[in-house]
Amino acid sequence: MSLIRSRTSPVRRAVVTGGAGFLGSHLCEALLREGVEVLALDNFLTGNPENIEHLLSDPGFRFLRCDVTDYLHVSGPVDLVLHFASPASPVDYLKFPVETLNVGSIGTWHALGLAREKQARFLLASTSEVYGDPQVHPQPESYWGHVNPVGPRGVYDEAKRYAEAMTTAYRTARGVDTAIVRIFNTFGPRMRPDDGRAIPTFIRQALAGEPVTVTGNGQQTRSVCYVDDLVRGILALAMSGHPGPVNVGNPHELTVAQIAQDVVKACGSDSGIRYIDRPVDDPQVRRPDTTLARQVLGWEPEVHWEDGLARTVAWFRETLDVPEPATELTAAL
Ligand code: NAD
Repeated sequence: MSLIRSRTSPVRRAVVTGGAGFLGSHLCEALLREGVEVLALDNFLTGNPENIEHLLSDPGFRFLRCDVTDYLHVSGPVDLVLHFASPASPVDYLKFPVETLNVGSIGTWHALGLAREKQARFLLASTSEVYGDPQVHPQPESYWGHVNPVGPRGVYDEAKRYAEAMTTAYRTARGVDTAIVRIFNTFGPRMRPDDGRAIPTFIRQALAGEPVTVTGNGQQTRSVCYVDDLVRGILALAMSGHPGPVNVGNPHELTVAQIAQDVVKACGSDSGIRYIDRPVDDPQVRRPDTTLARQVLGWEPEVHWEDGLARTVAWFRETLDVPEPATELTAAL
C-alpha cells in the first residue's frame, strides 16, 4: 500500500533532519522507496555515516553535513520537513545536555522556519518522555505528563515539550501545516550497541556472553515497537494532514526483566542477569494508548516482539561479527 496518496498535494521532496540516525535513516529509506526525493541533514553528533552509506548511490538521495542549530538553508522546493535531529538515548542526552536543549529549541525553530518558507508540511519527532514518570496508564495524548524539569532527564523531556509548544505556535500563529508524533520506545537494526538503551545493551552483552544488566528490580515496564511499524505510522501521519499529537508505539507491555530474558534467549546465550542501580527519574511504566492512531491513521503495529527481536539480533550479530551459536549437530562435528 502506498503511503503517499492520502495527501491532496503530492510529496515530491522531503528534508529529514537527523537523517543519519537510527530512525532518520530508516525514514529516508522508506521515503525513497515511495519515490520521494530526500535531503538528509545531520551533524553526526549521535548518528553514524554508515547508516546512510548504502543510500548515497540512490539518485533521489542527498546528504548534507550540518548542525541544524547553526542555520538551516535548503535550495529548491520542499514538500515535507521531518524534524528528527536530537540525541535520543539517556546516555546521549546526559552526555550532550546543552546540545539536546538547543536542537529541541533552536533546531526546531529553524526546521519550522524552513517549512514555513517552503510552505511544506512539518512533522516533529516528539517522544513518550513528554509524559515523564506517568501517573496515568496507559498514556493517552490528552495526558499532560509528570516531568521533573531540573532532574537529569529534564534536558530531553523539556526540550521536546518546548518543541511541541513551538510547533503548535507555528500552526496557530504562522499558518504552518504541522504534525506532532509522540514516539514510544522503538528498536531495530542500526541502534548503536553502546547507546545505553536497554535492548541494544542487552543484545551486546548477551552476544558477548556477559551478564545482562537490568536496572532496579526489573519490574518497570516498557512497550517496544519494531522500527518498520514505527516508520509506517510516522509516514501515515505525515501524509494525513492530522496535526496530532498522535502516539505511535506498540502497546504490548513487557517488564524490563522479561525483555532481558527474551534477549538472552534470542541470542542463544547463557548470560545471567545482573541487577544494577536504577537511573534517577526512570519511568516506572510506559505504554501508549494508540486509539487515536488507529482511528485517524488506521495504524496498528504488525511486527510481533519475538520477530522484531530476531531481526534485530541477526543485524547485531552481523555488525558485531559474532558467529551463530553452534547447534548440537555442528557442535558435535
Ligand atoms: P539517533 O541519535 O540515532 O538520531 C538522531 C540524529 O540526530 C543523529 O544522527 C544525530 O547525529 C542527529 N543530530 C543531533 N543533533 C543534531 C543537530 N544539532 N544538527 C543535525 N543533526 C543532529 O536517535 P533516534 O533514536 O534515531 O531518534 C531520532 C528522533 O526520534 C529524536 O528526535 C528522538 O527524540 C525521537 N525519538 C526516538 C525514540 C526511539 O525509541 N528511538 C523514541 C522517542 C522519540
